[in-house]
Amino acid sequence: MKEKTPTITVTSPLLPPIEEFVPYLKEIWNNKWITNNGQFHQKLEQELAKYLGVEYISVFTNGTLPLITALQALNITGEVITTPYSFVATTHAIWWNGLKPVFVDIDPITGNIDPTKIEAAITSKTSAIMPVHVYGCPCDTNAIQKIAEKHKLKVIYDAAHAFGVKVNGQSILNAGNISTLSFHATKTYNTIEGGALVCHSAEMKQKIDYLKNFGFEDEITIVAPGINSKMDEVRAAYGLLNLKYVDEAIANRKHVAEQYVNALSNTKGVKLYQPIVESLKNDSIKMNYSYFPIFIDAEKFGITRDELYYKMKEQGILGRRYFYPLISSLNQYNTYESSSIGNLPIANNFANSVICLPMHQNLTDNDINMVLKSIKL
Ligand SMILES: *Cc1c(COP(=O)(O)O)cnc(C)c1O
Repeated sequence: MKEKTPTITVTSPLLPPIEEFVPYLKEIWNNKWITNNGQFHQKLEQELAKYLGVEYISVFTNGTLPLITALQALNITGEVITTPYSFVATTHAIWWNGLKPVFVDIDPITGNIDPTKIEAAITSKTSAIMPVHVYGCPCDTNAIQKIAEKHKLKVIYDAAHAFGVKVNGQSILNAGNISTLSFHATKTYNTIEGGALVCHSAEMKQKIDYLKNFGFEDEITIVAPGINSKMDEVRAAYGLLNLKYVDEAIANRKHVAEQYVNALSNTKGVKLYQPIVESLKNDSIKMNYSYFPIFIDAEKFGITRDELYYKMKEQGILGRRYFYPLISSLNQYNTYESSSIGNLPIANNFANSVICLPMHQNLTDNDINMVLKSIKL
């Protein structure tokens, strides 16, 4: 019989021990209250606020609906400045609100929106900036805030990758008007599907809580046409349990990052992601090691990024070209003037050279060696 080659996946969900989950399920069954702001939902919001170091958080059924709701809650109109180097949900949220995305190029070190290029993209119709903390690396939030204040723009951070990320001990989620998180299975912390919205006042949280429940303020009053994006009790309980294990998961991920950095530092044609390399030497920025991107220079490396991707795949190692293709190059969005490659050379370069290596809390040293072997072979 032919020996089956093991597969190493790019990610693997953080799962709490099932024995610990069963008593929670029994409690939910006994309560006969399975959704609509139940006790686990409330507890999860309290515990997340504490863990993340934020004041107001509202949990959602995924990480896309808080982006959509944030734009609605802040009454955003016209044009929204954003980055093409993200997961499609960032721009989709702008589209769902009937707004026009305006793409701005990224910083060559972090891959985050380049603040020095934002002002040139502002028009009389611009009302918000929607940056992304790519790979959990914090945006230059001070520079973005200055521009926002000068031009009276709102700032909504897509912080889907930035669970637990801190700068000098402060949560990155406190920047801007609103930040959103994703708790999808593939993220550092998951509630299977799930997400959250962080805001900075009790009034805004109240509004958000109405908007995620069809807009109901009470039985007969609707504040606005809201969506249904409530998290149920089963996933809230699961989320409470996973919160106990996420620090250990992040520590394991950091160990994987250290080994990758050590092994690949001097590999010709492989460029490491500097914010991760830096975070291993200097703890002013606490990263969560959600991804481990590397960038391939085909000429120096000998083969292209895509050739490497398929070569790894043949050996059972699943990398991910994340983010590729650029959002601005998709059929739905490629007709805007700001989508032209000439406007986005750095983002284009990132998208065409990036490959994320397997990165999760369960990778063993043997797995890591296999990944490294598949790259260097
Ligand atoms: C995962 C992700 C989202 C969407 O989150 P879901 O929970 O999958 O809806 C949005 N933005 C970015 C940058 C993401 O990586």
